[in-house]
Amino acid sequence: MEIVSRIADLRARVAQARQAGRTVGFVPTMGYLHEGHLTLMRQAKEAHGVVVASIFVNPLQFGPKEDFASYPRDLERDSQMAAAAGVDVLFAPDVKEMYPGGFENMLAFVDVRDVTEHLCGASRPGHFRGVATVVTKLFNIVEPDAAYFGQKDAQQVVVIRRMAEDLNMRVRIVAVPIVREADGLAMSSRNVYLNPAERQAALVLIKSLRLAEQSFMAGERNAPQIIAQMRRLIEQEPLATVDYISISDPNNLENVAEIGGSALVALAVRIGKTRLIDNLLWEGQ
Ligand code: AMP
Repeated sequence: MEIVSRIADLRARVAQARQAGRTVGFVPTMGYLHEGHLTLMRQAKEAHGVVVASIFVNPLQFGPKEDFASYPRDLERDSQMAAAAGVDVLFAPDVKEMYPGGFENMLAFVDVRDVTEHLCGASRPGHFRGVATVVTKLFNIVEPDAAYFGQKDAQQVVVIRRMAEDLNMRVRIVAVPIVREADGLAMSSRNVYLNPAERQAALVLIKSLRLAEQSFMAGERNAPQIIAQMRRLIEQEPLATVDYISISDPNNLENVAEIGGSALVALAVRIGKTRLIDNLLWEGQ
């Protein structure tokens, strides 16, 4: 595996792969890799001659009070894990390479309306503008045939799909199911922030999703009822504070009242200072 930090070098390496007739799969990440990221990489490797993964903690998608500075970083460890997962080229630019004039001085952005305004968009203003903009930059740098995203960030998948569709991006967007710890906690780089008591408390997210599933299986179709049950369960955990719980149409993320077709049950919960997200997708018949 090659580690590349310059855009020009990455472009040259991808051009070489294309000349050799290979297709390019791309996995954008913020690093501090775990089994969720590695699953995306392995899946990309199954479908493509060359896999490019990026590690870039993007300042543009963090709010002023968020964890940009403290976000976990370990390139040495990440590069070993990425190599073992089959990544051919690891693109790890610094902030100056991605934003030579400073990210604060950017004039052009990619704004996706509506689907960015619900769920995480409501409590993280500007987050999805930062995501859509950096993903566009990365797509323009790598020019992949396909890009792999985790269903863990369900809203991100909707935003990126809509962006690629509306702006005629040539890339195919592939969504990969959530990878979980043995006890059900969705894997996340931010899980490293949790102390042992918080790690235990973090199980309320999956417990509340399981409760929603049970309720749905028992015939409940009223979304506010299911949300209320989930909220009651989470409120019993002293270390947990609900940011949002929503049941929405997975295509446009509009809230649904009565569940008819497919539905996305999504939530964000603060465990101590750490904000965690999780979700569950009900495919309609
Ligand atoms: P991040 O480094 O957190 O920005 O994540 C990079 C990519 O990995 C995103 O597409 C995430 O949705 C995906 N990802 C993160 N955690 C998981 C997980 N537990 N299961 C599946 N995909 C994940």
